[in-house]
Amino acid sequence: MFKALVVEKDENGKTHAGVQELPDDRLPEGEVTVRVAYSTLNYKDGLCIGPGGGLVKDYPHIPGIDFAGTVEQSDDERYKPGDEVILTGWHVGERHWGGYAEKARVKADWLVPMPDGLTARQAMAVGTAGFTAMLSVIALEEHGLKPGTGPVLVTGASGGVGSVATALLAELGHEVAAVTGRPENAGYLKDLGATQIVDRSEIAEAVKRPLESETWAGCIDAVGGEMLARVLGQLKYGGSLAAVGLAAGPQFPGNVVPFLLRGVNLLGIDSVTRPYADRVEAWQRIALDLPMEKLEAMVEPATLEDLPELGASILKGGVKGRVLVEVQ
Ligand code: NDP
Repeated sequence: MFKALVVEKDENGKTHAGVQELPDDRLPEGEVTVRVAYSTLNYKDGLCIGPGGGLVKDYPHIPGIDFAGTVEQSDDERYKPGDEVILTGWHVGERHWGGYAEKARVKADWLVPMPDGLTARQAMAVGTAGFTAMLSVIALEEHGLKPGTGPVLVTGASGGVGSVATALLAELGHEVAAVTGRPENAGYLKDLGATQIVDRSEIAEAVKRPLESETWAGCIDAVGGEMLARVLGQLKYGGSLAAVGLAAGPQFPGNVVPFLLRGVNLLGIDSVTRPYADRVEAWQRIALDLPMEKLEAMVEPATLEDLPELGASILKGGVKGRVLVEVQ
């Protein structure tokens, strides 16, 4: 038997989440069974714990889009019992049962080995949000971002992606400007390494002029919407914006002029079906570049029982930093 957060749908189409014990033979198909030690809470998890957001097709469902743990049984030669592994993406926790359970069974292709220097707890303090922040930093670097070229803007800075992005960029020697709608988090963001706090209301408004002063050397954007459109016109010549999220919505009422006159780049960041080599590289960079004491300052521990309430909170932008789910 294993304990899990199970979401069920009633005859009126309403979903209900609660902790249950399930027999091992209910685990889905897959080559590797993992004893999950930690999972985490991401924006998508909020959707999947709650009404589904179109991501969950079948009920009963076990959410949890990421986990870290130890291999218990494996039919794949790449993994053996006792190996420590990380899973992010591949629609686990959406279409496939996920990490809010003491056991998960997944395809071997979806896993990566735990990098040297990182524990399962640290890996899930980072989680999908932090992993995606690292992918964004790598994308900006590949498009020429270097320390000393100007401030890098991080939007949705108190959230999971934003907190890890802030700490990573600061550690790599960048000046970080953090956008937040919660001014009470200014001290937290400065402790993570932000040197400038930008109030969300200053920047989250419709584009009036397609080009504004060249201000930001780059941007990691977890928010989308009007903010993304506006920031494109504030990037320095040749600067890039890594588009990660849609906390403010999927539309961006923008203008092509910044692309044409300033040669700026809009970089799409996908963490879900990312090739294996990219995932391994990003986790190795996290082990190398993320200051672990700053990571610890982002962590709010939680249990499976806490998740229904926390899931609703993250959808309202109410979670700060990273929620670490202690599964065992
Ligand atoms: P969080 O909820 O932890 O962070 C989002 C932050 O955005 C909030 O903390 C808040 O920060 C800000 N925010 C919330 N609502 C609004 C709004 N209406 N307008 C402007 N800012 C807002 O979520 P995550 O960090 O886990 O994820 C962020 C986004 O990235 C989500 O949309 C998620 O789906 C996406 N994502 C995408 C991935 C990919 O592969 N591309 C992978 C992981 C996440 P503050 O209060 O400081 O302003």
